Amino acid sequence: MDFDYIIVGAGFSGVVMAERLATEKKAKVLIIEKKRHFGGNCYDCYDKAGILIHQYGPHIFHTSSKDVWEYITRFGEMHIYHHRVLGVIEGKKVPIPFNLNTLEELFPKALGERIEEKLVTKYGMGQKVPILKLRAENDPDLKFLAEYVYEKIFAFYTEKQWGLKPEELTPEVTGRVPVYISWDDRYFQDRYQGMPVEGYTKMFERMLDHPNIKLLLNTDYFEVKDEFKYKKKLIYTGPVDAFFDYRFGKLMYRTIDFVFENYPKENYQEAATVNYPNDYGFTRISEFKLMTGQLSPTTTTVKEFSREAVVGTDELYYPMFTDEWIAKYREYEKEAAALNDTIFLGRLAQYRYYNMDQAILASLAAFQKL
Ligand code: FAD
Ligand code: UDP
Repeated sequence: MDFDYIIVGAGFSGVVMAERLATEKKAKVLIIEKKRHFGGNCYDCYDKAGILIHQYGPHIFHTSSKDVWEYITRFGEMHIYHHRVLGVIEGKKVPIPFNLNTLEELFPKALGERIEEKLVTKYGMGQKVPILKLRAENDPDLKFLAEYVYEKIFAFYTEKQWGLKPEELTPEVTGRVPVYISWDDRYFQDRYQGMPVEGYTKMFERMLDHPNIKLLLNTDYFEVKDEFKYKKKLIYTGPVDAFFDYRFGKLMYRTIDFVFENYPKENYQEAATVNYPNDYGFTRISEFKLMTGQLSPTTTTVKEFSREAVVGTDELYYPMFTDEWIAKYREYEKEAAALNDTIFLGRLAQYRYYNMDQAILASLAAFQKL
């Protein structure tokens, strides 16, 4: 069978491309997806208790891009939702990222006020300071704060999440959760934030609902690639190293073991996500109803246990963001750039820490280039 484009992977990167190509270019598109469902990591479904859960971890939509927000809300309404996270520190549940509320809750009044004043004078109200930057401070109060936050929030959490110390990762990783000099205790400050009223899977269903898009589920591209031909391009959103048959060796990824639990009570915890930076083997517990707004007499939570992925067997969730692995990826990136008939897109094919909106933006940009 002949198609204009073949797309490998039915996550946001692949499906946005398919929707754009079919709608705007009237192109004939085949999507090949290994899993038994579309949606990639963003897939959601109802569990046995009737609670809408995210199979691959909690996904909160947030973006500063009006284009992305306008694009995505064409496929389903969002209810406005601002994510808040608490972290258990010294037995108290306090706001994360560390902000002025956290400072007030954890420190004696006089010390807290002195540190606040120094933070505001040095950086300014509303500024976000990555922990690795704060650690370079010389002022004794700010140094004390930096060491406290480093030890109590980052050190063990990062060990559990990555098997590494914060400084061994590229700064953008811990920079995602900076010290925030503000009374705003939300996890994200993007202009647009929300959760799809009918869930992500429904949004994907609408994006794929086009006569020019054919979807083949339960199919590994590498097992069928000789059976299908494309006239224009292949768009690949799977792991980049697999595409080149691990020519330069396997890249490293982290996977997560998700443990879902349903409780016969309306509510489990104080916030949608509670981080455990000091105890236990899991990093965080999220409660879906507190994000989706669903009403039900029972509630479902998910615990996340992170570990190194066995490539070829495990789900690959996080590329390994260290200089060493990014350098290894660059070898693949060069090979990928040399292929004129293939576009590499998405978290796995570009070995990037894309949020959903960034993956969508990258696909919209790649479509424009076509
Ligand atoms: P994916 O969703 O991984 O899709 C790739 C698809 O390709 C998969 O379906 C895979 O099965 C398929 N595939 C791979 N190889 C083959 C093959 N050989 N043949 C056929 N199919 C193949 N982002 C946010 O914005 N907010 C959040 O709150 C958030 N939370 C997250 C929580 C976790 C635990 C994780 C891991 C990620 C989170 N993200 C979040 C990021 C978000 O999941 C990604 O940005 C998004 O899924 C990227 O989409 P993608 O299409 O690039 O990749
Ligand atoms: N982090 C941490 N403690 C926390 C929250 C985050 O050490 O309480 C660090 C950790 O290294 C993590 C990174 O900051 O991987 C990014 O956190 P984020 O919540 O953005 O991760 P994601 O939601 O992508 O898993």
